[in-house]
Amino acid sequence: MNFKTIRNLDVSGKTVLLRADLNVPTDENGAVTDTTRIDRIKPTIDYLVEHGAKTLILAHFGRPKGERKDEFSLSFLPPVLKEQWGVDVAFAGDCIGAAAQSLADDLAPGQVGLLENVRFHKGETDNDAAFARDLAKAGDIFINDAFSAAHRAHATTEGLAHLLPTAAGLLMEAELDALNAALENPRQPVMAIVGGAKISTKLEVLHNLVKKADMLVLGGGMATTFLYAQGHEVGLSLCEKNMADEARAIMEEAESANCEIILPADRVVVKEFGKNAPHDVCGSDAIPADREAVDVGPETVRQLSERLKDCKTVLWNGPLGVFEVEPFDKGTNDLAKAVAELSSHGQLVSVAGGGDTVAALENAGVADDFTYISTAGGAFLEWLEGKALPGVAALTAYREAA
Ligand code: AMP
Repeated sequence: MNFKTIRNLDVSGKTVLLRADLNVPTDENGAVTDTTRIDRIKPTIDYLVEHGAKTLILAHFGRPKGERKDEFSLSFLPPVLKEQWGVDVAFAGDCIGAAAQSLADDLAPGQVGLLENVRFHKGETDNDAAFARDLAKAGDIFINDAFSAAHRAHATTEGLAHLLPTAAGLLMEAELDALNAALENPRQPVMAIVGGAKISTKLEVLHNLVKKADMLVLGGGMATTFLYAQGHEVGLSLCEKNMADEARAIMEEAESANCEIILPADRVVVKEFGKNAPHDVCGSDAIPADREAVDVGPETVRQLSERLKDCKTVLWNGPLGVFEVEPFDKGTNDLAKAVAELSSHGQLVSVAGGGDTVAALENAGVADDFTYISTAGGAFLEWLEGKALPGVAALTAYREAA
């Protein structure tokens, strides 16, 4: 995709409206529990500060549904941002109107301000043109650095791009480069690994990946549905029996696209699920009637680790087992370690994403060794589905007025 990046625009002395993802997790006292999203924006902030831009950050927090609600205010964030970015961050109590304009007027080149939650206005999620024009009044340039919100056509992800010179921030650029290298223009062979609970939530992903990957590895509960569709006994395992036809259709599509579907060779099964519950390993085609499959077995991991050595690209979404409960994180952890090891030696390009996937790879202690981990949930999945993301498409939307 051909879009401008922040480096293609002269930001010096300009007021930059920077769309960022600051929808950070907080505990019951409102303290930020994970600063990953804040930390990932730092290179863009550093760039804007060093190049003398006046930066006004646009962000959402939670789902206030178009109303001003104190619990969704971003006013708690400036001290946290200061700690993580090392710059003072001023705050305005509204993202449009006099408050936003007065903060814009007060900023000197190299200074940063944060505007109140854009979702306090209904115009944001409605992608209302008048609201977008109100937002644009305070700025000269629009930089979108929020890939994770790019699957929404909102005023701060899409509308603004029609009104101001627009470019991708450094995080958006890195994310798009990594995703492009893994799906659109990958080094082959490509192994896609899809786990998680159900196939019904990832049907589009599976339909798209069989066209793009050389191998599609299925794990988690979704593998059970495929095994069931092949006629195997699944015992008490989570299984979407009503999706058997869909699973068979995906297997047929894979065959005509020359994509090999790889199902687990063995499974870890329990009679009663719980932490450290007694468990056995059995062949995937021999799950006893009174057992539930909760992870892939060691033979599956051994076989996949072997196959990985022939791959050049791995794309991963979804855990292979119930990774939240020990020891049923073992299949996911062991395969993740094999991917990480090959990635750290430069043999593999590995890209993973989606909410639970990031948590699973962090739990495995290998997230840093993957080539790229996307923290985007919905946007990552829609990208895996092969959909055009409005926020990405909009990066090319602005045309200079004639
Ligand atoms: P998803 O959000 O679709 O990626 O699903 C992630 C969830 O799938 C995690 O909470 C896992 O615990 C769950 N999961 C993975 N494997 C299984 C399995 N064999 N049976 C039930 N749930 C599973």
